[in-house]
Amino acid sequence: MPTYKAPLRDTRFLMNEVFDFPAHYAGLSNGGDATPDMVDAILGECGRFCEEVLAPINLSGDLEGCTFENGEVTTPKGFKDAYDQFVAGGWQGLSHPAEYGGQGMPMSLGLIKSEMMGTANWSFTMYPGLSLGCMNTIMQHGNDTQKNLYMPPLVEGRWTGTMCLTEPQCGTDLGQVKTKAEPQPDGSFKLSGTKIFISAGEHDLAENIIHIVLARLPDAPAGTRGISLFIVPKFLVNADGSLGERNPVTCGSIEHKMGIRASATAVLNFDQAVGYMIAQPNKGLEAMFTFMNTARIGTAVQGVAHAELSYQGSLPYALERRSMRSLSGKKEPDKVADALIWHPDVRRMLLTQKAFAEGGRAMIYFAAQYADHMTNGIIENDQKKYDYWDDKLGFFTPILKGFLTEMGLEAANIGMQVFGGHGYIKEHGMEQIARDARIATLYEGTTGIQALDLLGRKVLLTTRGKCVRDFTADILKFCGRHARNKKMRRYVWDLTKLCAQWNYLTTRIMLAARKERDMVGAASADFLMYSGYVTMAYFWALQAAVAQEKLENGGAEQAEFYQAKIQTAEFYFERLLPRAQAHATSMLAPVKSLMQMDKDHFAFF
Ligand SMILES: Cc1cc2nc3c(=O)[nH]c(=O)nc-3n(C[C@H](O)[C@H](O)[C@H](O)COP(=O)(O)OP(=O)(O)OC[C@H]3O[C@@H](n4cnc5c(N)ncnc54)[C@H](O)[C@@H]3O)c2cc1C
Repeated sequence: MPTYKAPLRDTRFLMNEVFDFPAHYAGLSNGGDATPDMVDAILGECGRFCEEVLAPINLSGDLEGCTFENGEVTTPKGFKDAYDQFVAGGWQGLSHPAEYGGQGMPMSLGLIKSEMMGTANWSFTMYPGLSLGCMNTIMQHGNDTQKNLYMPPLVEGRWTGTMCLTEPQCGTDLGQVKTKAEPQPDGSFKLSGTKIFISAGEHDLAENIIHIVLARLPDAPAGTRGISLFIVPKFLVNADGSLGERNPVTCGSIEHKMGIRASATAVLNFDQAVGYMIAQPNKGLEAMFTFMNTARIGTAVQGVAHAELSYQGSLPYALERRSMRSLSGKKEPDKVADALIWHPDVRRMLLTQKAFAEGGRAMIYFAAQYADHMTNGIIENDQKKYDYWDDKLGFFTPILKGFLTEMGLEAANIGMQVFGGHGYIKEHGMEQIARDARIATLYEGTTGIQALDLLGRKVLLTTRGKCVRDFTADILKFCGRHARNKKMRRYVWDLTKLCAQWNYLTTRIMLAARKERDMVGAASADFLMYSGYVTMAYFWALQAAVAQEKLENGGAEQAEFYQAKIQTAEFYFERLLPRAQAHATSMLAPVKSLMQMDKDHFAFF
């Protein structure tokens, strides 16, 4: 079973040496308390909590799973105790405003916390993770009474929250939502319908569960323009905040899942359950999507988490397990055979995991700074600022969510491969990582939906390629700064060509889509993956540049750390980045080969 060690050295390298978080925090209106000492103390304590409390119940939680009896869900042994410690440590409110009892730290610290906790135990992290979506929605769209009533216990962690969107007939296409909300004389609503796949929908960790529910008013227009948003508490809440009657929102069952088995995924039945509207009637979907970018980055973190954990599992195995001799001569002649790590193909696997974990982490931290600026727009009541940063973040969100979760899955599969047949056996914990990683490409918008969002909405419809031009301009500035540095020449050269190609591909698809409407859908998945590989290449080049500079002038880390960064960047450019060219070729292929087959001719059984 992999023993989780919080990757604090990499975190500090990225925060202090690559992205200069101390200066970033100093420039934020809520960054005053995020001093380097404070941040370091938070990271250290978070790492300890993850290593000592969350990681030890990851495998046992998977083996035991959640149980459902008489409408109640029991989480696996140790989860309640860990959750109590999580609450006592004030972790839920780390990045929420002090007026609701939070610590008011920038959102990026919350994301970094989630990465560590999620790597140690993704199932556990789902419970407080869903509360974030619930809290953010209430904070942004609730009225003062709702905020004052629900936010403090949610921020404390005494209550948890959910996001109830999916119904049996629809997950992606929420325009098909059927749950009904009937207005009551007292201004409340009665909700009836069934929601499925609701993470943390029922459990034994907290006193109350606050469901955020999409439903339709009786006279609502069809489709997405007729959806409203409601707060539906499991226990009704009295005006003084105490718990009242049990609301008729009940758990009908929990799903038996491939992975994240310690996270309860509930079917919820609403039988005239009392709800309170948030935001405007029929504007529920817009309100729910306010924080979509940050929620999706939260899921992108899962890709990094599983890449990191599977790497932490496979590295010690590759160092200890022995098999045959290295082709270039015995490496450990006094041993019965050489360790796996001497074989080039095993190194290919390990370095792929490392490149995805550390490259993905860099991408998340970069985006986390955008998220900080965006939330500062809310804090400062500055809509223009919010919109500017939300737009900038919006371009990266599908890349991060789509690409990193796919790479997390690849890394998790590789982790099993490094273990050979033992990777398939439960006790090692490697197959659990692959099972847990699988969901990340499905929920919060499948990879296919992220791809359509990126190419169709963000790149073509909304900005007509400007978001690609803007980001590639930033990459080219980096290239310009390093053009004369011999050691950076290969990165600069490759990135310069890729920037030109990324814009060219965008224009080609834009032109082709004018004549052939299916072109966008046909090209989108390849465009997403191409964008992911190029974006990660930039962040590897950035890390290599910083590592070069620190090797020459000294940094906080030892020389070997910086050398390993440069070597991983080199591996990424030589052995992973070429995959982008296959995607480039494939995305420009005519639509015909996809669409020509008659739907009745897909199989002849
Ligand atoms: C473990 C788990 C936890 C979950 N947690 C929650 C939760 O807390 N709250 C919640 O509300 N939901 C939750 N979900 C639901 C999840 O978000 C949905 O399953 C997901 O959005 C996909 O919806 P669907 O299953 O209905 O698939 P569908 O929408 O039926 O999609 C099926 C396939 O078709 C593709 N597709 C669909 N439409 C298009 C299109 N227009 N163009 C191209 N391709 C398309 C999709 O990419 C996918 O590959 C959870 C699901 C699981 C399994």
